[in-house]
Amino acid sequence: MTTNILIVEDELLIAKNLSRKLKKFGYSINGIVSSGKEAIAKASSTKPDLILMDIAIKGDMDGIETAAKIREIDDIPVIYLTAYADEETLERAAKTGSYGYLLKPFKEKELHATIKIALSKHQEQVKIKQSLAKDSRKDWMYYDSLTDLPNQLLLRDMFEDILSFGWEQQQDINNRLNTRIAVICLNLDRFGRINDFLGSLNGDLILQIIAQRLSNCIGNNGSIARLNNDEFAIILNPLSGEHSVANYAQNILGELRRPFLIDEREIFMTASLGIACYPFDGQEINKLLCHATKAMKYAKQQGKNQYQFYGEDLEIPTSGDLSIEADLYYALEREEFQIYYQPQINLKTGQIVAAEALLRWFSSKRGVVGPNQFIPIAEESGLINPIGTWVLQEACRQVSAWHRDGLEPIRVSVNLSANQLKQPDLYRIIMQSLSDSKLAPQYLELELTEQILIDDVDINIQRLNQIKKLGIKLALDDFGTGYSSFNYLKQFPFDILKIDKCFVRDINTNPTNDAITKSFIEMSNLLGLRTIAEGIETEAELAILRKHQCDEIQGYLFSPPLPAAEFEKLLSSSKQGIIKAVA
Ligand code: C2E
Ligand code: MG
Ligand code: MG
Repeated sequence: MTTNILIVEDELLIAKNLSRKLKKFGYSINGIVSSGKEAIAKASSTKPDLILMDIAIKGDMDGIETAAKIREIDDIPVIYLTAYADEETLERAAKTGSYGYLLKPFKEKELHATIKIALSKHQEQVKIKQSLAKDSRKDWMYYDSLTDLPNQLLLRDMFEDILSFGWEQQQDINNRLNTRIAVICLNLDRFGRINDFLGSLNGDLILQIIAQRLSNCIGNNGSIARLNNDEFAIILNPLSGEHSVANYAQNILGELRRPFLIDEREIFMTASLGIACYPFDGQEINKLLCHATKAMKYAKQQGKNQYQFYGEDLEIPTSGDLSIEADLYYALEREEFQIYYQPQINLKTGQIVAAEALLRWFSSKRGVVGPNQFIPIAEESGLINPIGTWVLQEACRQVSAWHRDGLEPIRVSVNLSANQLKQPDLYRIIMQSLSDSKLAPQYLELELTEQILIDDVDINIQRLNQIKKLGIKLALDDFGTGYSSFNYLKQFPFDILKIDKCFVRDINTNPTNDAITKSFIEMSNLLGLRTIAEGIETEAELAILRKHQCDEIQGYLFSPPLPAAEFEKLLSSSKQGIIKAVA
């Protein structure tokens, strides 16, 4: 392809001469014009490959101004021709990104060389620009702009990289048998609510902090990507054994549990993690991600704030599951529900002071179904109201019967879902339960979750105040897992704060959990609340809670939730206390 050159020169003789020389070198002439205006018109309509531009041309624009205008429209290289080159002119010319000068009079050879240099210089520039454009398009396509983390597209490449470098290098067959590449799907718990409540700007901020924390946590031992809104994926470098993967999962959960300081408020976030491992749970990234997501959903269903390994037998009841809803509907009628009771123990006296009522569904079709599986469905379908009413009545009846039988007069605490608090006749239902059972109101506690601190706050405060006037105690359940803030808490009429079991877990070996629990207890004391820690499973955990002077405790270490008859036995056999009293 021949190079097309436009000549801008107002002395016709010089122009003709130039044109002849150029043709001799094999260039073709795009045109000869004598003013800036014409030059701009010609250049923009015909796009020459190069312009030879005389600086001193007639009209109100000189060659330098003309070149500048042309380069605004199109990237065409310009070589200046000039008879006198004072410093100032040369400097002006340089600013327009000139590709060369020819001082008149010049030799043929000089002309040819200058043109060749200009063309190759220009070509180089074009290449650089193209690759820059490609890179920025690449960034945009492969990275999440909010967190700067790779996105799902890049995750695929990252998996291939880990597979080809990390995996293939593990030549040792024995080692390989036990080696896995874990793909973790992380979804934040209740992020939508936090986002609604704090605004999406703060929501974004939280996501950015989370990206940072994940990066700190994983370091060079894997790769992280943001999949969508509140979902992240992590691929760990090859590890041997499930327990090493589990350690990472624990660390991640721990990192997220540290409070986020937003607008001078402490926000608590948790996440649910699902894990699928190459090569056992899938050979390629799509399959692995899909299985990790399934496991993540299972973790959510099991109560959130935990991790779950993928297994083929993971059964995930979807919340839209109509048949479970239908069965739930008849469960009350068929008397398939039963309440289990789990003791709460006063740490000072060692005695059982209360029982939490925990619902169990003995479905004729499905066997025993845990509340984490059916309460969410009951909430969505509105069935939680009749079910909740039954729990309230039955729990009051049972505990009142124990009182009459001469057992230790313990309190009963009943879980109330946020939906139940919206029920207009809740107050009446509570009064009715108390009067039917003849249970004195000070023996009834209601446990509410942090959800009520977020939606309809004013109404909730008003309702709770009204209920509290009956003489009932109110507890904030699962504290720390959702939205908690000292300021908000102050406005609610709670008596008791229940620290969620995830903070109690491994409190003796996990300094973060230890510090959090300690600060929760201090905060609770400051607000004049009684503190209960739930989920105590080991003596070591108990020892720490004692040290922090927690008031009451609940957990498998003392007893799992028990059917009424068994709880009764436990209660009557432990008059002297279930654990050693503190002297
Ligand atoms: P929750 O109110 O936080 O209840 C404590 C849960 O922790 C219970 O699970 C209990 O069995 C379990 N737990 C107790 N000690 C330990 C321990 O040492 N280690 C571990 N890992 N777990 C322990 P459960 O019975 O499966 O109930 C789950 C949730 O379902 C409850 O959490 C509560 O939010 C909800 N729920 C249960 N019954 C009712 C009800 O009648 N109404 C409503 N609205 N929700 C209910
Ligand atoms: Mg509870
Ligand atoms: Mg709880």
